[in-house]
Amino acid sequence: VRFARLKTPTRPVYARLQGGEAFHLTDPPWVAASTPDGSRTLWTESDLLCPVAPTKIVCVGRNYAAHARELGNEVPSEPLLFFKPPSSLIGPGETVVLPPESERIEHEAELGVIIGKRARNLDAPEVAAAIFGFVIVNDVSARDLQKKDGQWARAKGFDTFCPTGPWIETELSPEDLRIRCRVNGGVRQDGRTSRMVFSVSALVAYISRIMTLEPGDLIATGTPDGVGPLLSGDVCEIDIGSGDGSAAELGTLRVGVTKPAATRV
Ligand code: ZN
Repeated sequence: VRFARLKTPTRPVYARLQGGEAFHLTDPPWVAASTPDGSRTLWTESDLLCPVAPTKIVCVGRNYAAHARELGNEVPSEPLLFFKPPSSLIGPGETVVLPPESERIEHEAELGVIIGKRARNLDAPEVAAAIFGFVIVNDVSARDLQKKDGQWARAKGFDTFCPTGPWIETELSPEDLRIRCRVNGGVRQDGRTSRMVFSVSALVAYISRIMTLEPGDLIATGTPDGVGPLLSGDVCEIDIGSGDGSAAELGTLRVGVTKPAATRV
């Protein structure tokens, strides 16, 4: 089942998408009380907003061996975790703003996991029941600041550094999906989730032993190799799907890239 958040003439709404129709919901779809409110509208790509509203975004570093290698790092013996702030989220069709502090900002195409119920101390077999669905995440990273700081809060945390969308898919098996990233049409990343060092179920179980996961929380599961720079004027597209030629189940997350405006807010 496909869920999204949409612009409407009056206010943003969460909705279940079915073909070109959107069936509006009373609450975010991962909330137990969420039900159809009876409204139904047509939607197009330009109506789609960021479909998630997590209390926290937990990210996993170096979860693909080829990516760890390309940056000169070892594969960690336990999952390497960091956070991105929810304030870094943007939706499909929005624009990554390049901060002047960095001279090297890169895309990272990742499978995102959305939690469906409060979870603590899960065992791996319990994880599937705690997952609401999946979504595409671009873990935009200021690589020079990441190296310089040691701690990654700045390098990973700028506003607009977490493009997420275009929609959530709930019936999808995460074990062997193809992840592709193109910049201005040229393929940069082309990996498969089967190459993860730690699987989705191992990651969610591991994180749940550290912190309580809340409905709607977002976990970004790491990026395959092929990361590269984003420059002002670029268009960055990520698609994730079965890769067997059928429709890409998680769609395409497309964002622009720009220099900051000269004026301050
Ligand atoms: Zn990442």
